[in-house]
Amino acid sequence: MPGVYIHIPFCRQACHYCNFHFTVSLKHKQDFLQCLHEEIRLRQDFLAPYAEKTKNNKLLIDTLYFGGGTPSILKVSELIGILRQIYEFFELRSGAEVTLEANPDDLTIEKLMALRQTSVNRLSVGIQSFQYADLQYLNRIHSPAQAKQSIKNAYKTGFKNISVDLIYGTPTLDNDKWRDNLHTITDLAVPHVSAYCLTVEPKTTLSVFIKRGQTEQVNEDHACDQFEIMIDLLVKSGYEHYEISNFGKQGYFSKHNLSYWQGIPYLGLGPSAHSYNGKTRQWNISNTTEYISRIKKGLIPCEKEKITARKAFNEYIMTSLRTQWGCSKDKINREFGSRFLKHFEKEASSHLENGLLIDNQDNIKLSGKGKLLADKIASDLFA
Ligand code: SF4
Repeated sequence: MPGVYIHIPFCRQACHYCNFHFTVSLKHKQDFLQCLHEEIRLRQDFLAPYAEKTKNNKLLIDTLYFGGGTPSILKVSELIGILRQIYEFFELRSGAEVTLEANPDDLTIEKLMALRQTSVNRLSVGIQSFQYADLQYLNRIHSPAQAKQSIKNAYKTGFKNISVDLIYGTPTLDNDKWRDNLHTITDLAVPHVSAYCLTVEPKTTLSVFIKRGQTEQVNEDHACDQFEIMIDLLVKSGYEHYEISNFGKQGYFSKHNLSYWQGIPYLGLGPSAHSYNGKTRQWNISNTTEYISRIKKGLIPCEKEKITARKAFNEYIMTSLRTQWGCSKDKINREFGSRFLKHFEKEASSHLENGLLIDNQDNIKLSGKGKLLADKIASDLFA
């Protein structure tokens, strides 16, 4: 089930916590779009060994994901242009998921109606919070009212598969307000939620403000409390906690992200996008002007690393442990061999004893307590 990811590196405003690749200048948008079309052509064969071919010699893909940046900043006609170029070389399998990341301020009825005429069938809306103080702290461009209205507009225009991004752990968000945010999601009957703990990444505006004492530091205990509140509230409301940061109603899990976690090959296009085929990982340069200049010279602007057996094992542990299914001993034995399985069983034993891991027959997964320490436990299991 290979997929394609497309990175749109433009935003209207810089959020203070963000360390994704983006620019707030639209000066190079037309050049970028031209080069993206060219990159699609240049890299059409990357997935060829892993994807079925149609009678017309096109590669079948199961997911297509527009991320960023803010893909919804593009005009619908520009998105249609990209989709047309994709469909020159790829075909969507029936039931394929086509996601567009969108900011609430872009989701007007007019834009959504136009989007409904394209193959986009899933929206991932960057709401982050319904609280004014939070949105200011994060330097988000939209208001709480726009956040709610965007979801209502999406339903009104016929979108059903909607995901909302939320952030918790901000100093401006007390537990009652966090419950309010979660209740707003359940009241709006949004079927999928991705919720991330605020992390202070180096070189972001937030990290500078904290260093200068201009804003409060993020408190880990506060974030842990909100993580537990979220699990309790969303699970009681019928969501499955299928990955540490992801909750979905049955039938609404993110197919694209599930593919990442299952190690399925994908092609990443646009500046900073990653590609993976099981043997190598490639990443495009995180600089839009340099991306444009290299593509214009006919070069693919990426670096590459070989994935060793040890690296592949560690990546499997890292991603699968975060899911509700956990790590499969059978898969470790089949794909990495008995030496890795022995290592895994030895390192997992102390966490099985202290209750951070659960032995679920073939699968070893995180307990409720273990979910709070997922990264540390995964690193203990690494080869
Ligand atoms: S809209 Fe998204 S990508 Fe753009 S600055 Fe904000 S968090 Fe970063």
